[in-house]
Amino acid sequence: MIMVDLEGTLSDHEERLATLLEHEDKYKKRDRTHWKTYYAGLINDQPRPHIMALVREYINDDIRPLIYSTRFINKYKHEEEWLKLHGLWESVDLLQREPHQTKIKGPELVVQWVRQYEPVLIIDDRDEVREAVRALNLPTVAYAPNAFLNLEEI
Ligand SMILES: [Mg+2]
Repeated sequence: MIMVDLEGTLSDHEERLATLLEHEDKYKKRDRTHWKTYYAGLINDQPRPHIMALVREYINDDIRPLIYSTRFINKYKHEEEWLKLHGLWESVDLLQREPHQTKIKGPELVVQWVRQYEPVLIIDDRDEVREAVRALNLPTVAYAPNAFLNLEEI
């Protein structure tokens, strides 16, 4: 089984992330308005072609990738919509943060899921997640979309 992060990994969120960071005031709390715009923008993200191709290859081999998001389930519903829009909904499983999981940080939640599902491969755009997964010393391979892009440049 493989686990693939949705936002920023399977989807390309770079444009809206740049907008969010542009408006971030480093000396004050982040402006909620811009965060809301950022959160609502997932549905407009294009897929990252390399990750989408990889996910489709697994599906073609009858393996259901586990797509995950550490956002709360049922909050925006954009995760499901995005997967439907890009033709993946019937072929993948979607895993999200449950309503009671309020205290746990995103990377820690992913680590919990990795322990539970023991994937052979996990792809996540966050360094923190990959490092935490590697620290588990499981045979799980932890990769990032940028690593794939860099390979293309060699
Ligand atoms: Mg991500």
